[in-house]
Amino acid sequence: MAQRLDGKALAQKIQSQLSVDIVNYGERWQRSPGLAVVMIGDNPASAAYVRNKERACKRLGIVSFGSHLPADTAQSVVAVLIDRLNQDDRVDGILIQLPLPAHLDAVALLNRIAPAKDVDGLHPENMGRLVRGEPGLRSCTPAGIMTVLREYDIDPAGKQAVVIGRSILVGKPMALMLLEANATVTVAHSHTADLPEICRQADILVAAVGRPKLITADWVKPGAAVIDVGINRIQDPESGNFRLVGDVDFASVEPIAGAVTPVPGGIGPMTVAMLLHNTVLSYRKRFNG
Ligand code: NAP
Repeated sequence: MAQRLDGKALAQKIQSQLSVDIVNYGERWQRSPGLAVVMIGDNPASAAYVRNKERACKRLGIVSFGSHLPADTAQSVVAVLIDRLNQDDRVDGILIQLPLPAHLDAVALLNRIAPAKDVDGLHPENMGRLVRGEPGLRSCTPAGIMTVLREYDIDPAGKQAVVIGRSILVGKPMALMLLEANATVTVAHSHTADLPEICRQADILVAAVGRPKLITADWVKPGAAVIDVGINRIQDPESGNFRLVGDVDFASVEPIAGAVTPVPGGIGPMTVAMLLHNTVLSYRKRFNG
């Protein structure tokens, strides 16, 4: 049976350490870190994620400067809000909760965030730093995955890594971080031919697709580390209840893989922990701490 990579427990450990750091830094600098989560519209999944993030901030002593705006908010209004948050000295991190309503230009808004406050690591300057291997704010979900791999002594160096998905949010930065850690990386996507065969070569397989239970046991090399990023809400045909499943068919993959992350309780909590970590990092940088 595969080792379960417990992202929830690791995220709690990271948050406990951060809360101690925040008390110490707060005494030294007489100010708490601040995070602004900007949410536009009322997408229920986004609302749940935002609630989660703001609750975690409160637990740790990070001040929330969130704005929840109606779905029909104009681009110019969001732009002015971002400018104001960029200039607000109490705000160390700004995050725009995606996806945005269709009339908004998400790229233009993400690019407007000051790179030093870009705690989601999506600004071209931070992405460019990642490409160049320079220090900078790193995208939270792949940074969380790298932290899980380190915690469980899964060293990507010399390994074959396959990342399914090439989004700016997860797949592309994931591939770059694995490359930075000396893995040999293949990035697969919806046009990839013979995906199962490519996945079977992976020592580290990262699924960031958004297709429930796409990856079954016959796609997995025995002993591989399987990282499930997917969050899919599906309805049980018998009970009618909704539940969350990943992109990996956990029940069939667990007996064959060497290690696997569960959904929920795997990469989701790590993403939040890395957001808080990035917020504290940009706060410290502003005090040269
Ligand atoms: P996305 O922007 O929709 O990207 C999905 C990627 O999967 C695309 O690159 C797409 O290929 C590829 N793909 C789609 N169907 C495929 C198939 N049948 N075979 C191979 N590749 C396929 O999604 P995302 O934002 O990266 O998120 C992916 C999943 O992770 C979602 O379930 C999302 O909810 C979840 N997520 C979880 C966290 C977390 O904290 N755990 C964070 C972010 C996202 P093309 O590029 O060719 O279209």
